[in-house]
Order: sequence, then C-alpha cells, then structure tokens
Amino acid sequence: MHRRRLRIALLTLPALVASVLTVPAPVGADPSASTAAAESGRSPLETQESVRLVRIQLTGADMLDKVAAAGFDLEHGLRRVPNGIEGEAVVTAAQTAELQAMGVTILGDNEGFAWSEEADGGIQAFRTQADQPHSHEATVRVVRADWFTTKGQGFLYVEARTTEGQQADPIVTMQLENDSGRRTPFGFARTMSRFVDSGQYMFHRNLFKLDARPNQIRVTSSTGGVATGDVSDWLEDAPPPLTENRGYKSDFVDGYRNPQQLYSRAKEIARQYPDIAEIVYLPNQTNGYQRKAQATIGGTGPSAVVVSSAAWGHEGGNDITVEFVQRPEANLPLSVEVAGKAIRVLLAKDASAGVASTATEVAAALEAQSQGLIDRAHPYRTNAGTGIVAPTSGPVALTDFLDQKRVGAPEGEVPRGPVTIPVLRIGKHRDGRNPGVLIQAQDHAREWVPATTSLESAERLVHNYKTDKETKKIVEGTDVFFILSNNPDGANYSFYNFASQRRNMTNHCPDENADPARRNSWGVDLNRNYRVGSGHDGYSGASTSCVSDTYQGPEELSEPESKNIIWLVEKYSNIKFMMSVHSNGGQLFWQPGAYIADGRITTPRPPLGDEAFYWQSAGRILSQVKAHRETVVTPENVGGSSDVLYSSAGNVREDLYHTYGIYAFGWEVGGSVYNPATGDWQGGSFQPVWEGDPNLVSGHAETMEYANGIMEMFRVAADWGKDKKDPTSKLVPGGGKYSQPVDVRFETNEPATIYYTTDGSRPTLQSPRYEATEFREPGEVFHVTETTTFHWFSVDAAGNIEQNYDPTKNDRRDNYRKATITIRTK
Ligand SMILES: [Zn+2]
Repeated sequence: MHRRRLRIALLTLPALVASVLTVPAPVGADPSASTAAAESGRSPLETQESVRLVRIQLTGADMLDKVAAAGFDLEHGLRRVPNGIEGEAVVTAAQTAELQAMGVTILGDNEGFAWSEEADGGIQAFRTQADQPHSHEATVRVVRADWFTTKGQGFLYVEARTTEGQQADPIVTMQLENDSGRRTPFGFARTMSRFVDSGQYMFHRNLFKLDARPNQIRVTSSTGGVATGDVSDWLEDAPPPLTENRGYKSDFVDGYRNPQQLYSRAKEIARQYPDIAEIVYLPNQTNGYQRKAQATIGGTGPSAVVVSSAAWGHEGGNDITVEFVQRPEANLPLSVEVAGKAIRVLLAKDASAGVASTATEVAAALEAQSQGLIDRAHPYRTNAGTGIVAPTSGPVALTDFLDQKRVGAPEGEVPRGPVTIPVLRIGKHRDGRNPGVLIQAQDHAREWVPATTSLESAERLVHNYKTDKETKKIVEGTDVFFILSNNPDGANYSFYNFASQRRNMTNHCPDENADPARRNSWGVDLNRNYRVGSGHDGYSGASTSCVSDTYQGPEELSEPESKNIIWLVEKYSNIKFMMSVHSNGGQLFWQPGAYIADGRITTPRPPLGDEAFYWQSAGRILSQVKAHRETVVTPENVGGSSDVLYSSAGNVREDLYHTYGIYAFGWEVGGSVYNPATGDWQGGSFQPVWEGDPNLVSGHAETMEYANGIMEMFRVAADWGKDKKDPTSKLVPGGGKYSQPVDVRFETNEPATIYYTTDGSRPTLQSPRYEATEFREPGEVFHVTETTTFHWFSVDAAGNIEQNYDPTKNDRRDNYRKATITIRTK
C-alpha cells in the first residue's frame, strides 16, 4: 500500500480585521535643501543631513509601532528589556529631537538594561512550601530553563509564567532560585523580569552568569505559587562542524560583495559546475538602480518649485537644465522655451513690471510646456505654491544624485536600470524529487553580511561536493536555491550612495514627499510587502507612510522582488524550507511573526509538531554556528518573532508558511558576541569591519560562522526528505484504572502533531489538535475526572502518520491509537 505523507500546516487565516492602521503624518528625514546652491545656478546639492546611530529605549510595542509608522528606522538590533524595548536608530539630529518628543529615551554609552552580573543572586527568597506536590491548579509554570556556555562563561536563561501575570495591582513578582548540581539545595534567589508586550503579559524571565551548571531551578511567585524545573542544555556538545572534516574547503569570501559581483560569481559557479548547478532567472525585473533627475528651485518656501525629469537621469534627465527668467517688460504672460535640454521659464510680469508667477503656475507650465522633458513639477512638500517665484541666477542642472559616490566606495560605474535577479540552484537532482531550500539574502539593502554568508555556503557546496561525504549527501539530497541579494537596487544604493539604505529603490511617494531631499527615504520594505498578516489587513509593524523605513508598499506584492519569491515557490513546489537571511541581531525566528496590536492577536501558531520541529532545527543550526567560535544565539532570541521581539506585518515567512506549508525561518546573523575580556555582550552592526577582531564583531568571522548554520539547514532538509519513518506517541500515564482524577498528556518520539477525540469517534485532521499549554511551553495537561477514551494519531514534520493510519478515509482498519482512562472513585 502506498504510504501517506501529508503536510498539514496549510492554515487559512481568518479575515480578522479590515481596518487600516491610522496614518500619521510622515516625519522622515527632513534635511534642508541647499537653496544657496540652487539660486547660484549651480546644481542644487540637496545633501542629506548626516545621520548617526543612537541607542534608544521605547516603552513597548505600541511606541515601537508609532515610531516606525512615523518613518523611523528601528528594525534591527532591537531587544526586549523589562521596561520595554531597546534598540538602535539611524537618525539625524532633528530626528533625535523628534524621537524624544514622542517619548523615546536616548541612551548614553553605558545606559540601558543589563542582565544581572551577579552569580549568586543575593535577595531574600520568598518562603516556599518545599516540594509542594504537583497540582493542576499550580499558578506557576516553568517554560524553559537553559544552560549554555560561551567563551568559558556559563549562563542560565529561564522563562516562567504565572497564571496571575496579567494582574496589575499589585503586580505579581517572581523569584528564581537554582541549585548547584544534583541533590544540592536551592538558593541564590533573584527577581525575575516581567515581560509585557502590547498590554499582554508574556512571561517572566532571567539571564545570568553562573559558574557551574545547575540541575534544577525553582520559581516562586509573590502569591505563593511554586514550580520546579529541570535545566536543559542549549547548544552544548555541538557536533564538530563540517569545516573540521579532513580536506574540507572553506573561507572563500574575502570581502563584501556588491550585487554585480554576487550575480557574476553565481553565473560563474553555474558554468564551472554544470552537473550540479544552474541559474534560474526570476521573471520580474527590479525597478532599477536609477532615478529621475530632479531639482528643488527657489528654496523650500511657498515660492519653491520641485521638478523631476520624465527620463531617468542616466537616459538624458541629467542633461536637463531649468532656468527661471525675468524679462524687463511689463504685462507679460508666463511661458516656457525649450532649446535642446535647456528649459527657460519666462516668468509672467504684471502691469508694474513685477514678477507675477506663482510656484503652482510655474509647475503647471513646466509639466505642460517643457516638450516632455519634465513630467512632474509641483510646489515644495505641503506648500500651497502661492508664493511668487524668483528668477534664478542662471540655469539649474537637474541630477539623479546617483553619481555622488560615498567616500571609499569602489571606483567604476554602477550599472543603471532594471535588473534580472539570477537564482543559483545547486543540487545533483534538480527535478523536484528532493526537498528544495530557498536561501534569500539581503532583502534589506544595508545588510551586507547575509549576502557574503550565502555566497560562502554556495562555494562550500560546489567545492566540497566531490571530496566531502557530508557535502555530497547534501548536494544529492537537496535542491538549493540561492538568491544572493534580493534587493540589488537598494544594495547598490547602500554601497555607493547611502549606507543605511534598507528598502528598494521604488518611489511611491506623492508630491509632498517627492522632492530630492527625501531621496534617502523612498522605497518599499520588501519584508513588509507580502500577503499574510499584512499591514493592509491591520497587522502591526508595517507602515503606510512612503517615507517610513518599514513602508509596506501601496498594496500587497506591489514590488517585483516580492512577486519573484512567490513565483519561485509556486514554480518549484518542492521548496519546503526557506531562510530569509538578515542582519544584525543574533536571532532565529519563525511563526508567528505578526499580530494585530489590539488584543495582540497573532497569525495562527504552528501546530505543536511544527513548533517542535522548528526548535529542533534551530538547535542544530545554531549549534553549528557556535562550533565556529562559540557564538551563542541565546534562547531568548529564538522562536516566533512576534513572541520574542516584535510584530512585522506582511513578512515573507508568514506568507510562505501559511500559504505553501514551507518551513520559513528568519535569521538575524551577526548579533551580540560575548566578550570575556569585558564580561559584556558586544552588539553587532550592519556593515562590520570585514577583518575585525576575529573574536568580536567582524564581517569575515560572521560570514564563516553563519555559513556553518546554513550548511546545517541543508542537512535538516536532507534528513527531512529521507524521513519515511512513522512517528510514535503515547498517553502519559497510559490507559488503565485510577482511583482518583488523573493528569494526562501526550508524548511523541519526535516532533509530531497529535489529533485526538474523546467522544469515541475516529480521529481525523479536523479533530482537536493537541496544543501547547501556552506558547513556548510543552503540550497541555488534561485533568481527567471521569472515565474517558482517547482516540488519536500523530503526524511528524515530514508528514508521516503514526501506524500509517489514513485519517482521510473511513477504512475498516481503524488503525489509530486508543486508550481508556477509567476513573473509579470510592
Ligand atoms: Zn533585515
């Protein structure tokens, strides 16, 4: 009989909310244009005010959403702290003031939250009832207790919940104690941090240094709840990385790569290794590294006029000049003369020979009479355009500003115009038989390390395929698709014009934000442009403002770069794994990644089997990262991204998981690194020095360590593809006679989801699903008070069903699992 394999992660999203987020007035970068330059007749050098990175503290997700919607750039390096969220913002001096006006705290060098450094706690412990018997009414549950070491230092990370956590007055406090090994007493009491998000209590947590691994922890609440839990290892005893295999070749990438270099190497690899590699071209060209030539003429007041060329700058727009001319006579109408690319606006004169054309009139005349050279002219920003336009002292040259290379940028012309993105496909069998893995790097332009990390992984595959047994298994068992940069236009802008560019180069801004001083604030955040849990559906963490760094675009999938991803996963339906590689944060994410702020309603949570599979895969991937130089991505930064960090509406992961059943990870490479010399965690950067301190922040070291993780993801996929083994499960304790009510739960031998009934019927995929007690916790506990029969089956992450049961058919075997709990109370 043919075996059943199915994926059941295909959840449809309820249409939860139709309302759109409120639209605050955009307040992005607002540097003053250099009006003196414009009036001197020279090219108006509308330079962007200098930006700097500041550390900030926000009170919580609500403030984060407001600040992001107002156009600020707060995406990366964020972390939850007890009093809210800390992060970094790339801002001008004016924006810093604006942030402060919104209530944001600007942190100094040594300010901000730090986990307790003390290894021995020191507060007085709550009185606890020692060894209180387990009760289903326990008010405290241990969510996780993880031990890890990095660079010679041990750490304990604990999450625990109290059922009274939402209570506001008084707030329930929690204390954590640990033992010092097996059969040693609890002690070292510490206060836990209460984590509240969008008004909802999440859990309490702690991270602290410890010199020896505890065996157990105990958490006590101020209302008397108590729970103990075993300490688990996090990324301890990682198997050696592939790089330690004899003869294994690595360390191919020796510096940052612009998109041209990445794509050209991808094509070269396909030529050099035709038996295992090819290029797939994505169908939608990008909008291009190109801009219209522009000028803001006449200052920024009511008489200013903003002009944009019809042609792209490099296709003739940059040759256009515009001059506002005053003639000596009186009583003259406004008119426009065009000679070649030189436009002369002959300003109207009134009866007393005064200049009499308003900005609005001049703009209209330019649009109508410039012989197609100018297709967009308008007053500056929100000005009414009623000011009388002043003559210029000569012709003003329009420019697309793209030739102003950043200091230190490589020489040479950056190709202009739309780009066809090549996908480097590597696999021995590229016919759909093997699980596909999509590695998508650099959605966000300024994130340079994800691109080098992905390229390094591709190089390792092709160079070691013939000589390394493990690599051969990957290449023969998977079908890998590398998009080495999914935002080539923005990436070039980041390399050559504006290092902090995050979005693509599309300009969707209406006139009020279309002047060239806004040019670093245009573009769509490609990772907010997808269809599931999107800002358009009321989810939080994307902006409707075209000058916001999290601008979601005018509609879902408005951008060619996001359309391409959907095209790819629909064309290659064997793609079952995806990693959206970002920097920097030291985080590994999956679903849920977005919520509706009101009530904190997340996108559907993955079933328990998928959640467990995500955790298992994360452990494997991050162990391999750690194996390189002991960088630990801490468990507080792993899980559903909206659970541990923030909501990002319309991200790619939600769409691929919920629409296509693809295990879709989001990775923030290059996060904090523990520095044993200072005893602190040192934060990462978007563009770290390539050869930095090899033990700290370094583009090179991050590329190598995170490439280890990508290679492990391929092995996860290869194992998944080979997994033909049914899962097994059991009810604990099992069926039988009990003299009093009993607590039961399900256990599985591998990540698997259980469907069950208690009414005697056959279990099907529509039956109740066995769920977590709460998110990030193990499976729920049923308190059985009367005789109950459970019918169930389990499905593993690869779709294998326990005992090869067919839940879709009414076959006569009824080969599901059964157990009866008989309760006979006296
Ligand atoms: Zn990013």
